[in-house]
Amino acid sequence: MKCSACGRDAAIFIPYSGRYLCERHFIEFFERRVRSEFRKQADIPKGSKIGVAVSGGKDSITTMRLTAEIMLPRGVKVEAVSVDEGVPGYRELSIEKAREEAEKAGIPHHVASFGDMFGVTTAEIALMKRDKSPCSYCGVLRRQALNLTARKIGADFLATGLNLDDTAQSIMMNFTKGDVERLARLGPHTRVQPGLIPRIQPLRSIPEREIFLYASLRGFSFHESRCPHAGEALRNEYRAIINDLEERHPGTRHSILNSYDSIKPALSMTFEPANLNRCERCGEPTPGRICMACRMLQQMKKI
Ligand code: SF4
Repeated sequence: MKCSACGRDAAIFIPYSGRYLCERHFIEFFERRVRSEFRKQADIPKGSKIGVAVSGGKDSITTMRLTAEIMLPRGVKVEAVSVDEGVPGYRELSIEKAREEAEKAGIPHHVASFGDMFGVTTAEIALMKRDKSPCSYCGVLRRQALNLTARKIGADFLATGLNLDDTAQSIMMNFTKGDVERLARLGPHTRVQPGLIPRIQPLRSIPEREIFLYASLRGFSFHESRCPHAGEALRNEYRAIINDLEERHPGTRHSILNSYDSIKPALSMTFEPANLNRCERCGEPTPGRICMACRMLQQMKKI
């Protein structure tokens, strides 16, 4: 097949737009959407700093490389932050990819470790008697670690590698669970709250498959294996349902995202951001007295 834009050999078919694109036009199409997301999601002034959360997978490496390429020439500082949850045989390999790619991007790379910050690793949590999956604990602690580290390095924004597939799944999961308040709080964050670094998601409108192709065409080095504790049975069910709908009705994921963006202003008016206090134990922002991370750590008898 030939590229719909120039007639050269196509590298990809984009089912939701019905177009074939060659390498060059695919890369241009990809980067145009990332630039547009930056413009839509935040006013990022010269002299400010973006921290990029980098696990070492294709999504976060692509986010980091493009954030650096787009923002450094505009006088915006960019630094990478990786969280080492303590999953032997998995995380150290992906952090190595993050380090290599941060070096290629010419930006500093910071590593925040669960062991140092919280005195417990995800591998240890997985062995504990617990009522939730390791991901439930790991996700809360990772959000805390990222926010703390982003604040420590003086970041004004925190960019994450969330892609369109992740975003559509999160919207549908919260919607069908009836958790409308959580639905209202999905990023990107337009309101700044004290102590919370606002999240931006430059890849939120780009399907995972296109990110894989883009990262491969650009020669980015990324880590591909899966965390051994990854369970998330529910998210996997939503992934299968949405993929099936997308296959039969191309554009479904974008429709889910666009519908969400249309109703988000109304949701945000109904669910105003909670008034945040400083956690009495760690000082991180929380709607209550003790933040979720400290409550979980207390439960594990680690503090
Ligand atoms: Fe943590 Fe779960 Fe991600 Fe593994 S898959 S790093 S346990 S959140």
